[in-house]
Amino acid sequence: MGEQRASYSGLTSFMRLPVVEDPAGWRGVDVVVAGVPFDVATTNRPGARFGPRAIREQSLQLAWGPIWPWGFDPFDHLRAVDAGDVPFDWGRPREMEENLRAHIARGLSAGAVPVTLGGDHFCTLPVLRACKERFGPVAVIQFDAHRDVEEGAGEGRIDHGIVFSEALHEGLLDERACVQVGIRTTYPGEAGAGMTVIDAAACHTMSPARIAAKIREVVGEHPAYLTFDIDCLDPAFAPGTGTPVPGGLSSHQARAILWELRGLNFIGFDIMEVAPPYDAGEITALAAATLALDFCCLLAAARTRGDG
Ligand code: MN
Ligand code: MN
Repeated sequence: MGEQRASYSGLTSFMRLPVVEDPAGWRGVDVVVAGVPFDVATTNRPGARFGPRAIREQSLQLAWGPIWPWGFDPFDHLRAVDAGDVPFDWGRPREMEENLRAHIARGLSAGAVPVTLGGDHFCTLPVLRACKERFGPVAVIQFDAHRDVEEGAGEGRIDHGIVFSEALHEGLLDERACVQVGIRTTYPGEAGAGMTVIDAAACHTMSPARIAAKIREVVGEHPAYLTFDIDCLDPAFAPGTGTPVPGGLSSHQARAILWELRGLNFIGFDIMEVAPPYDAGEITALAAATLALDFCCLLAAARTRGDG
């Protein structure tokens, strides 16, 4: 880690990673972290535009070397950079989609795994477009209170409720290899009927290991993209989000599921919908930073075994 600094001190990047905004500097990098301060697609409370900064700030509490329970510092095994925030003109929200797709595509062609800090869940769509270009249709592991498969795909909507129906419509996903975890809302229509849903009630009767086993069974060897909408967590653990739904997972449940996903063929990760204006004691941003760090540990664990 180099020089140790108090968590409240120094410039802010995710986990104190070096800031490398210029894609020319990403060659040979394993992980490119980027923020997307975009929240105009939300159906309820805005504020996720402040998510990337809050997650970065809370990550500074975690940047102290080996991570429990992994027992190592993932950045001893991964070369990672924080690329800052994807730029777009706030007066042209549509610009975000193409800028983010192009940003992710540049990271993927440099051989890096994208770790994206949202922003509302609409931000996952341009990322998936870039992933499809590189890997073909991908498996999505979605942690969320909502399936985000509303009607209206193909109509050009900027709407965080249609991300996965739109992704299916655009052929970005391998539907049968997709799994949604923590769901506790209903959707009309047939979009995403081929996806596996492990709803919140099931999550509360299954152990994290059993949930992870089910995820592995569905995803198999497919290129796997893990998207975590922070509202998958119960509002008691993550009040700072735009569309909270009671009855969700605890931060421990979610982490324990991630810990069991070692060895999947991960191609990317995002953490979305952190809206700091509704947070309490910064617990939502801290949970988000911790989950993003657990994902980095998953990647690093693959490297330390030599199979990454
Ligand atoms: Mn969502
Ligand atoms: Mn949600």
